[in-house]
Amino acid sequence: MEKHFHLKNILLSLIEDIKKQDFLVYFRKMSILEIGKDEIIFGTVSAFMKDNIEAKFMNQTLLAAQKEFGETIKKINFRVDINIDNPSNTDSVDCTTFYKSTLRQVKKDEKLSYTSVTMQQKKSVNDRYALSNFIVGADNQLAFSACEAVARNPGKSYNPLYIYWDVGLGKTHLLQATGNEIIKKVKDKKVVYSTADKFITEYVTAVKKRNVEKMRQKYREMDVLILDDVQFLSKKEQTQNELYNVFNLLYDANKQIIISGDRVPKELTELEPRLRSRFEWGITVDIGKPDYETRLAIIQEKSREREFLIPQDVAEFIAANVTENVRELEGVLNQMIAEYELTGNTPTLERIASKLQKLSYTKDLLGEGRTPRTHKTTIRSYEDIIDAVSKHFGIEKEGILGGNRKKEFMIPRQVSMYLLKTKMNYTYERIGNIFSGRNHASVLYSCNKLEKIIKKDKNLLYEVNAIKDGIGI
Ligand code: ADP
Ligand code: MG
Repeated sequence: MEKHFHLKNILLSLIEDIKKQDFLVYFRKMSILEIGKDEIIFGTVSAFMKDNIEAKFMNQTLLAAQKEFGETIKKINFRVDINIDNPSNTDSVDCTTFYKSTLRQVKKDEKLSYTSVTMQQKKSVNDRYALSNFIVGADNQLAFSACEAVARNPGKSYNPLYIYWDVGLGKTHLLQATGNEIIKKVKDKKVVYSTADKFITEYVTAVKKRNVEKMRQKYREMDVLILDDVQFLSKKEQTQNELYNVFNLLYDANKQIIISGDRVPKELTELEPRLRSRFEWGITVDIGKPDYETRLAIIQEKSREREFLIPQDVAEFIAANVTENVRELEGVLNQMIAEYELTGNTPTLERIASKLQKLSYTKDLLGEGRTPRTHKTTIRSYEDIIDAVSKHFGIEKEGILGGNRKKEFMIPRQVSMYLLKTKMNYTYERIGNIFSGRNHASVLYSCNKLEKIIKKDKNLLYEVNAIKDGIGI
């Protein structure tokens, strides 16, 4: 049994180290025959396998054995194990099955529900969400830092902390991660996470049962209140009123409040102005769409968490094509894992490309006449985009970045802005700064303008596509 355990660890290292195809062909079935002081003897299926492994993978196997047993292991040997196929032999490992199992998602028990408002404080946040597994990129850096600061010093740094933006960009993750971090530091802190929806239900139930006072009491005792998706409070005047009271109580007692919404407090026009304005008392941060690098890092992190070995090119392909939100990224990954579990098909570029096409992720507005990107994007910063546009149209970069209003400059400029917006998710402000300090409205206008033009002008559309293809975006 013990041998079996060690062998699996060694095989895991080998899987990381050698090509999948080689592993599946040459390692078929393995066993450990002996664990000596400085030597390990492995069993193979046949002399043919033994010769091949010795010829090709001696070094890797030695390294893997040393990783498992330590450097005292100086040599390894292979012998044909005549018992390897014996059903009663529990020491051998079928490498093909093992390989597949390493690809498989395991942690099914992770899908805890985290919505309970009926206070077992520590249960109301889901510990799958941590600050440590939140991938930080340019567009969520601020929100992340604010959460870190709040976790370090609840009630003292930013209160309330208000995080906003569209769905699927990690608000819930950050909120819960912050709650987790606080609980981790001080075990008896009472942290409650609730969605606005649950808060409404809780309040309505309390009213029905005539125990609103009890609910109030409960919230009064909280050290940290986390309230997700406050936009759902719209038109619920009574509940808003209750939240207003809770907010004041906690705020006055220096208790931390963390809130999320889908837009800035000012735009929550269906909320009571006095509640809205309280949301603005602390710090308001947005959490933007992740750029390519962040998306790639997220896919890799999620695959790792789920113990799913994702080939690099597949990860890059998904990151290049699924751009809108992180939930969608995860959705694609889930599909891939599910498909693997059902059919045993390992993800390949071809398979994932056709999958994404079916899900129409690759059919963006300008997708006409394009095939899904199957190659790496080469862009690293905005300059690469400007360079590509400049090369394509044969005009100097200065001409693109400057203010000349002739058409030969305007179009490349608009194309550059448009690509920065749609492909790099830059904010209009950030783009404006790159283009000699233009303001938000002017960049917005240019992007919209270009979009309109290319809807009509097929030639320009193809030019834009050519630029995109050239740099793999
Ligand atoms: P929102 O609450 O904004 O709708 P979620 O927090 O539910 O978004 O995020 C959707 C999914 O994406 C979650 O599974 C979350 O873990 C994941 N996610 C979003 N952003 C990141 C990130 N930067 N790093 C890691 N995972 C992320
Ligand atoms: Mg959410």
